Amino acid sequence: MNTANSAISRLKSLDYSVVQQCMHCGLCLPTCPTYTATKMERHSPRGRISLVRAIADGRMDLTKTFAEEMYFCLGCLACTSACPAGVNYAEIFEVARASAEESGILKSPKRKLIRWFTVKWLFMDLRRLLFVGKLMRFYQALGLQKLLRGSGVMKLLPARLQELESMTPDIPAKFSAGLIPVITPARGKKRFRVAMLTGCAQDLIFSEINRDTVEVLAQNGCEVYTPHNQSCCGSLHGHNGEWGLAQVLARRNIDQFPPEEFDAIISNAGGCGSHLKHYHQFLADDPAYAERAALWDLKLKDVHEWLARTGLTPVPARNVMPQKVTYHESCHLAHGQKITLEPRQLLRAIPGLELIELPESNWCCGSAGIYNLTQPEMANALQDRKMKNIQGTGAPIVANGNSGCLLQLINGAKQRNMKIRVVHPVTLLAEAYRRAAV
Ligand code: SF4
Ligand code: SF4
Repeated sequence: MNTANSAISRLKSLDYSVVQQCMHCGLCLPTCPTYTATKMERHSPRGRISLVRAIADGRMDLTKTFAEEMYFCLGCLACTSACPAGVNYAEIFEVARASAEESGILKSPKRKLIRWFTVKWLFMDLRRLLFVGKLMRFYQALGLQKLLRGSGVMKLLPARLQELESMTPDIPAKFSAGLIPVITPARGKKRFRVAMLTGCAQDLIFSEINRDTVEVLAQNGCEVYTPHNQSCCGSLHGHNGEWGLAQVLARRNIDQFPPEEFDAIISNAGGCGSHLKHYHQFLADDPAYAERAALWDLKLKDVHEWLARTGLTPVPARNVMPQKVTYHESCHLAHGQKITLEPRQLLRAIPGLELIELPESNWCCGSAGIYNLTQPEMANALQDRKMKNIQGTGAPIVANGNSGCLLQLINGAKQRNMKIRVVHPVTLLAEAYRRAAV
């Protein structure tokens, strides 16, 4: 079978009922950022589903335009929240991108090199990512970044490279392994034994959020297991058509965190959690892992979800700090995992915190994995819309539960000179516990 045929057969292997379920009602259209921006049917969920169906039926070839269309989709899953028929667009999207990759229709030497370096090398072994992170840290800590930015040398670079350089995140002095012991005992009575996933980008840029999460879990009766040398969850690979690599990482994580041994396996990043809860989808045909993957999916919990389910230890009303906070929802937490109330409940449980609702709180901020790198125009337009909405609330703090969005908001604020704090809800909770303990 040639590559194009085998890619089409992957599309055909989609449970046909998934594609057929769409009744073309169009209720998803107003919730889709790419359709809203362009008003073109093919940039809508309904249009994309029709394209997938046409290829699976053999009425259309798998073309470059189709492949590009699937990469123009943010994968934000807002359409799944609006759809009355319950169409599993997440599956359609992942299979379509995997088919596009398998067909090789988008191949170019530049694209091949970038994908090899990021998806196949850097994010397959966290030690490599953290090593690159350490180099960046040196570059920033020694003042070289400031020096180069101030010297005007950057202006000699092409505009796109200048833009990418300005998006480089600040690398913290310590990664999760330097902040969190392998075993953190529960504070007070031990009620649960949980495992903590420290992530890849999360570990590299937001290790302090991981430390705060472990602290909050311990405060809530959990003994927390946080091994060093963890692996990426594989969402980057799954969303970018690399199913084989996503499977390798899923097996690695199941081996490192045997689901039978924990009451829950905790993720604090909405994008990762949404992928991590579907390992069975990737390993269903692997007799050695299928059953454990199904158990893994059941044990996987987002931190907000877990705290709401087990009952949050109240924060004593001591050293209360009045603060106004607005909340931007991560697409994959809100639409992918349907977790919308729990983060708000958590924020409202912090004494002195006033939660100001953000207009369009569940509208994508343009981060969408690496979308802000691959589709800068659309990503910037979405970032702009989000920052204006945040500004409109007047809140000096914006909370969000996903590393990609946090970074997108930090960069958005930097570019617009907005003096706002961008923070994970769990960090605000950890700070409240600390204040109350003084
Ligand atoms: S995932 Fe987002 S961008 Fe893609 S079709 Fe659905 S709503 Fe539109
Ligand atoms: S809302 Fe669901 S059924 Fe209706 S067009 Fe969109 S995907 Fe199809």
